Amino acid sequence: MRQRLSIDDYTNGIFSGDRFVLSRAITIIESRLSQDRNLAKLILKNILPNTGNSLRIGITGIPGVGKSTFIEALGKHITSLGKQVAVLTIDPSSKKSGGSILGDKTRMERLAHDPLAYIRPSATNLSLGGVARNTRETVLLCEAAGFEVIIVETVGVGQSETLVKGMTDFFLLLMLAGAGDELQGIKKGIMEMADAVAINKADGLNKMATDLAVHEYKNALHLFPKSDSGYIPQVISCSAMENTGITNIWEIINDYQQTTKQNGFFEKNRRLQNLDWMYEHIRQTLETMFYEKPAVRKKDWYNRKNSECGPGIAYCSSRKIAKSFL
Ligand code: GDP
Repeated sequence: MRQRLSIDDYTNGIFSGDRFVLSRAITIIESRLSQDRNLAKLILKNILPNTGNSLRIGITGIPGVGKSTFIEALGKHITSLGKQVAVLTIDPSSKKSGGSILGDKTRMERLAHDPLAYIRPSATNLSLGGVARNTRETVLLCEAAGFEVIIVETVGVGQSETLVKGMTDFFLLLMLAGAGDELQGIKKGIMEMADAVAINKADGLNKMATDLAVHEYKNALHLFPKSDSGYIPQVISCSAMENTGITNIWEIINDYQQTTKQNGFFEKNRRLQNLDWMYEHIRQTLETMFYEKPAVRKKDWYNRKNSECGPGIAYCSSRKIAKSFL
């Protein structure tokens, strides 16, 4: 195990915007070693007063829609305005495909070299719930390190969108023209979550199809119930590759921020998100405590691979332990 820094070194390093220390602190947050858990708690406690000041943007879309190309274009636009941007990724499939750490950095090479940007892929060896908890806490660390805009990217495969929506202020759905909703695996629920839909790859021969898709999605969104934010979701086209439509999307994001800050939704949403986060934290803490019990660890179903017990036995056994635990 790599040598840990002192709590002061982590805190001061993060406050001074030291990327190296920030990365090491995120590693502590992601660590599942019990000795790191206390350190993670202390780091979070120290930095908490300096958090909450960023604009948190969630971006989703199926693989190949152009997320990394788009985030690079948007990220470069944001840094050109002199703002610092952090990009965090949640990739539920990375467990299967192997480490995404190098992959994400090379996917956004220009942005990775921008001194105002920071890119951090999620740890690959965790459950989706674990990744989500880490990502929330990573957002806080990045805020304490001075990042004004935080982009959380997720691959559009279902559950992860809800998690990202639950930790961001603005949720952008990237889509393609002519691929059909079903083909894109985008469920109605995900469309409903979006504050804006951007049809990407509006270039070359695809331009006309994109204009048509914008029209169709505008009509579709019209039929959805009004969002709690009081903001009417926007549909636009863009080409991440040709860098067109990117400034429009940034303007929409700012417009959304202004509207929801004025009508009080921005703060209300963050308060509700914090509450959900607390419930989630309680659930996870109890779960960890349960599975750490020596009596639980001894059970053959603890190591599911070697378990031959039927569901009935597992149920009774876990109930007995849960009872003794309470
Ligand atoms: P991701 O899997 O969603 O992150 O998608 P990528 O950003 O890796 O892009 C997938 C492919 O689409 C790559 O070959 C990109 O060059 C291409 N691509 C991304 N954005 C655009 C765009 O705006 N126009 C066109 N024509 N191609 C694009």
